[in-house]
Amino acid sequence: MASIIPIDPAHSAIQAPIKLLRQVRDAMTTGSGTPQSRLDSLVRVIADAMHADVCSIYLTRPGDILELFASHGLKQTAVHITRLRFGEGLVGEVASTGLDLNLAEPQAHPKFAYRPETGEELYHSFIGVPLLHSHKTIGVLVVQSKAPRTYTTDTAEVLHAVAMVIAELAVGSKIVDLYDISGGQNPTLQSQQVSGLTLAGGIAKAPIVLHRPKIEITQLVSESPEEEEIRLHGALLELQQSVDSLIDQSGLEEGSAHREILESYRLFSQDRGWIDRILEAISTGLTAEAAVRKVQEEMHARLSQITSSYIQERVHDLEDLSERLLYHLQGVEPSAALGVLPEAFILVANGLGPAELLEYDARRLKGVIMAEGSATSHVAIIARMMDIPMVGRVENILNLVTTGDLAVVQGDQGLIYIRPPEDVESAADTEIAARASQVAAYAATRDLPSRTLDDVRVSLNLNLGLFVHADHLAAADVDGVGLFRTELPYMASRELPSVGDQQKIYRDAIEKAKGKPVIFRSFDIGGDKQVPYIQVGDEENPAMGWRATRIGLDRPVILRQQLRALVGAAAGEQLSVMFPFIAEIAEFDAMKALLNKELARARDEGITPPTDVRVGTMIEIPSLLFQLPELMSRVDFVSIGSNDLFQFLFACDRGSPRVSGRYDTLNPAVIRAIKSIVKAADEYKVALGFCGDMATRPIDAMALIGCGVRALSMPPAAIGPVKAMVRSLNVRDLVHYLDYLCTEPAHSLRLPLERFAKDHGVVVE
Ligand code: PEP
Ligand code: MG
Repeated sequence: MASIIPIDPAHSAIQAPIKLLRQVRDAMTTGSGTPQSRLDSLVRVIADAMHADVCSIYLTRPGDILELFASHGLKQTAVHITRLRFGEGLVGEVASTGLDLNLAEPQAHPKFAYRPETGEELYHSFIGVPLLHSHKTIGVLVVQSKAPRTYTTDTAEVLHAVAMVIAELAVGSKIVDLYDISGGQNPTLQSQQVSGLTLAGGIAKAPIVLHRPKIEITQLVSESPEEEEIRLHGALLELQQSVDSLIDQSGLEEGSAHREILESYRLFSQDRGWIDRILEAISTGLTAEAAVRKVQEEMHARLSQITSSYIQERVHDLEDLSERLLYHLQGVEPSAALGVLPEAFILVANGLGPAELLEYDARRLKGVIMAEGSATSHVAIIARMMDIPMVGRVENILNLVTTGDLAVVQGDQGLIYIRPPEDVESAADTEIAARASQVAAYAATRDLPSRTLDDVRVSLNLNLGLFVHADHLAAADVDGVGLFRTELPYMASRELPSVGDQQKIYRDAIEKAKGKPVIFRSFDIGGDKQVPYIQVGDEENPAMGWRATRIGLDRPVILRQQLRALVGAAAGEQLSVMFPFIAEIAEFDAMKALLNKELARARDEGITPPTDVRVGTMIEIPSLLFQLPELMSRVDFVSIGSNDLFQFLFACDRGSPRVSGRYDTLNPAVIRAIKSIVKAADEYKVALGFCGDMATRPIDAMALIGCGVRALSMPPAAIGPVKAMVRSLNVRDLVHYLDYLCTEPAHSLRLPLERFAKDHGVVVE
């Protein structure tokens, strides 16, 4: 039998695949024809080039239905009438597996299904290839002939390239609507609930935007395969170099999980099979970008059938690598922040730096989901300041979503619903409304004093740095700004802000505060708060490296510019300046001396001086705990930065997901450290505040009050719940209990303190 089957007759298509691809592109893009007339001419072009009797295009409709959209060779009356389910017949088989079928005797295949309305005769050859886009089968391209024939793999490859071009153009020109065919849902991934780590509380419901969006490929058909090959090799080289330098710079130990991932990237990036497949696609006439995307879609279709988690990991690696290769080919590293964004969206990213988060329009950004992240990282702090729910460590999130998928982020529970079912959607709507009324309820209590039941006043202040809302500051229960993180405007800027620009920002905060004190912290750049214009360089331990005051003292010009802006901004007003990351008294003295120089300079230049200057420091490095008398005797105020203090007390990286849950802030050691600071501040009559994240959690804030802290600073959203706690607390009872608890060698005092709150009716929700 095989001897009478002629060799592949589609010589012309194989010989000149670029010509065919161009014809395909032109049929789909030129002229003013309707989408239908374009598809009609397209099937003719392909049938001609393949010397085939039939060429048909089936497109996916909502509900996993394949509809005959255009055909050359089948009865025209069947177009838009013939429909098959995924898995039904040969066409349905191609669609459901995402793999092609190349058959010499199609009737002999167990899946063969005869559809009389098509006028289908006895065909002796069938080749069907899936139209793949965004990991979905958006249709099937079929070529059939009466004469028995076997299509070679070369022909199949040409058809794959044709299918790629059709799929891209069909989606690009909206002949197929990805969202629509999914019925608003991703057909391969239905509703899903995943969990992660709470980084910022709250709830949001909105469509997803990917932080690093898939690159849009505008040019699919190449002018010259040779040139595309050269481009590919160039991009591959860059990719391999970038992976190599990631490995070299990372300083990761041999055998560590992260290093293994990078090593496997390196291996993949040199994988001959992968590269050869891309080169083969280029040789059929695709541009390098289209070839990379084609291979990516096909590999995904093939490998995602395998459920092994090892293979799934590799699929993820390949996805990531393909996207990186596309970035190199296009010479860009785009972030969605720079594009057009929906009115409301939830951002999905592998990991995000604080500066990257700040690039997004805060009014539209409703929630963030990340594959990485830890609760005390700055990106999480900023999310809390922005009052945006953020869930981190959601493994595999990038493989579970596509742009436009609806999602619900439940920050408090660390839960994510992707493409939520109706009941979850409506529960989310109810909770969003309930929260809004809770916020309104807190707002209604704004005028009530922040006093405990036994009449201890607790000053509540704001942590700001961005979005200085006048009404937040005007609230009767807000005494001022306890921490103005000045580095945030630095991070939101692509270049060092000028003295004038800085001065405007600081003046704005002072004016909005209307006489309430604003404590400006000099910049805390470095660590995970990198800015492009101050090169910190590679450090093994950036959190303990060249950061904050250390940069300021080594680069006094930059620091003095900031101090000048602060002095200028506070003309005729009180100025409070706080230095971060002070490890020894000499550093405080040196910083204060620079501030004094700027004050003297302002005087010399005849600039109106501040009415009163208060100088203080953060307590966030443990060495200060052993220099408290010397420190207290020279500062006007101090503020405890528990985020850093905790990480250094426990040698526990605040940015590392692995250890972030290992110790608790309500450990007796923390309580004792705080008590010792309170004692020293009381002795020296120094104003003491607390601006670390602990203060935002009512139960932790309760413990702080028990330690003697009387001024707390937090993001605006935390004021309501913390004040509710203050107003329901009897401090006297707590102090005794805490004294007793501190003597316990406990991992955490959280549970007994929660019990205390419950037994004494303290509101710590
Ligand atoms: C802290 O360390 O507690 C603090 C408030 O500063 P930051 O979080 O900005 O490092
Ligand atoms: Mg800090």
